[in-house]
Amino acid sequence: MYLILLGPPGAGKGTQAQLITQEFGIPQISTGDILRAEVRKGTELGKKVKSIMEAGKLVSDDLIIKIIEKRIQEPDCRNGFILDGFPRTIGQAEALNELLKKLGPDKLKVLEFEIPDEEIIKRITNRRVCSKCGKVFNLLLNPPPPDGKCDECGGEIIQRSDDTEDVVRKRLNEYHEKTEPLIEYYHKMGKLHVIHANRTVQEVFAEVKDVLQHNFKN
Ligand code: AMP
Repeated sequence: MYLILLGPPGAGKGTQAQLITQEFGIPQISTGDILRAEVRKGTELGKKVKSIMEAGKLVSDDLIIKIIEKRIQEPDCRNGFILDGFPRTIGQAEALNELLKKLGPDKLKVLEFEIPDEEIIKRITNRRVCSKCGKVFNLLLNPPPPDGKCDECGGEIIQRSDDTEDVVRKRLNEYHEKTEPLIEYYHKMGKLHVIHANRTVQEVFAEVKDVLQHNFKN
């Protein structure tokens, strides 16, 4: 199955993607994680996108489409993948349609994570992530271990530099302006399922699993 997780930053896409990977055995592709790894390594690409990400803006479609095109050709994507944070514009969605033409467009489903903006602000400012494996924690709902080390890989747990309230508001503006139109776009294609994301991780995952099990028998 080819799965798109659509929704504002902080809606729980990354957390749910990790659970879906465990349950269904298909990889999570997070464009945000890929870009952050480039920034950490100080590559040309990383240097190009660092200030854009820190300002809460979207990087260019061309750049992100190339990354996805390459990534989904890797062997672990043979049986499907979860796109977490892509597509984020109509241009990206159209490029993805082209890529999926060869792979099987009927295997595509989109889960839209619905959640109010004020809840997002609260969640993101309390979000912490493992700097090594990307595991997501939340100071209120799912606190990291007291020693500040990830319980999966031992990596250091940090706050992302774009998870401050000021930048989150800018990211939300980008979402409403550029990404929200995708809801209507995928609804018209008959691909959209709404997930009520303003609940606990386990409650949300129960709904996600239900939708996926009904829709994907293989
Ligand atoms: P995320 O971790 O998904 O919240 O992404 C963090 C940042 O990476 C975003 O605020 C953008 O600057 C950039 N980014 C990630 N995915 C995309 C995308 N599909 N299109 C454009 N920019 C993206």
